[in-house]
Amino acid sequence: MNTGIVIKSTGSWYCVKTESGKTVDCKIKGNFRIKDIKSTNPIAVGDRVTFKYLEMEGEETAKPVGLITEITDRKNYIVRKSPNLSKQSHIIAANIDQAFLVVTINYPVTTTTFIDRFLASAEAYRIPCSLIFNKTDRYNSEQTRQMDELIELYEKIGYRCLKTSTKTKSGLNQLKKWMTDKTNVFSGHSGVGKSTLINSVEPGLNLKTKEISDYHQTGQHTTTYSEMFELSFGGYIIDTPGIKGFGMLDMEKEEIGHYFPEIFKRLEKCQYYNCTHTHEPGCEVKRAVLDNEIAESRYYSYLGLLQSDEKYRS
Ligand code: GDP
Ligand code: ZN
Repeated sequence: MNTGIVIKSTGSWYCVKTESGKTVDCKIKGNFRIKDIKSTNPIAVGDRVTFKYLEMEGEETAKPVGLITEITDRKNYIVRKSPNLSKQSHIIAANIDQAFLVVTINYPVTTTTFIDRFLASAEAYRIPCSLIFNKTDRYNSEQTRQMDELIELYEKIGYRCLKTSTKTKSGLNQLKKWMTDKTNVFSGHSGVGKSTLINSVEPGLNLKTKEISDYHQTGQHTTTYSEMFELSFGGYIIDTPGIKGFGMLDMEKEEIGHYFPEIFKRLEKCQYYNCTHTHEPGCEVKRAVLDNEIAESRYYSYLGLLQSDEKYRS
């Protein structure tokens, strides 16, 4: 049995890297489908697969090719809705160990609404997420104070935070340590410094982390293409067009609170088991907000998601 990890997908071919470090271009059978997942692509970057070698007639010197016969259960995967087929989604990547959300207080501004929405989708996807506060060299004392406040807020919930600057190099060694031997994804607004950070820890990697602007025009091709790169110090980094946000999963109203850890852990103390923490009496979450145990900004983000809920459903 030959096994490996899919490191590149073009839609019709999958480049599989075996444990010995060899890469084999593989195809799948036309009827290859994964149970319970409606997606335009059955296999994505990060998938662990079993394959068999194919004999190619009259091409003895050609690179070996294979046929994927089986895919190992995924621990997680991220999708985006297909622009043309709204009922179907496209799997961007699978088996992601962690996401780094790169944020800046300024240049550009990252709002807590954006951070919270991202963290909630990462929770829904079961992807651990860390916050990277970049461009610390540019902050004045007020901005530094804002950053420290946010770090205190998010660390209290349980999210790992790190201050970085690609100018002064501070925090970069720690970031590298966190990335080592893991499959990593970077996200964040355009201009926060994702490419510069990645290039600082792994010079020479020229990723396309920038959102592809002609995404809709090029349609099919760009949506099916993604790739992951091996890091020289161990692990991978997933590079894909449109990794900027995960996009919200379809979730039920009652579920949204499950993706805010500090809200979820209080649910059992609410009077109603299906409390939405809005109008119900005996709500432990509302009490915690009033007593400053839960940050107001987090509660507002939660309410915002609850209200805009319909928008995110297909
Ligand atoms: P991306 O769109 O998130 O990939 O952002 P880029 O990596 O392209 O960076 C956007 C701009 O921010 C570039 O001009 C970088 O040189 C700059 N930049 C990145 N990191 C830092 C930093 O730590 N400090 C400062 N002052 N500028 C940075
Ligand atoms: Zn409640």
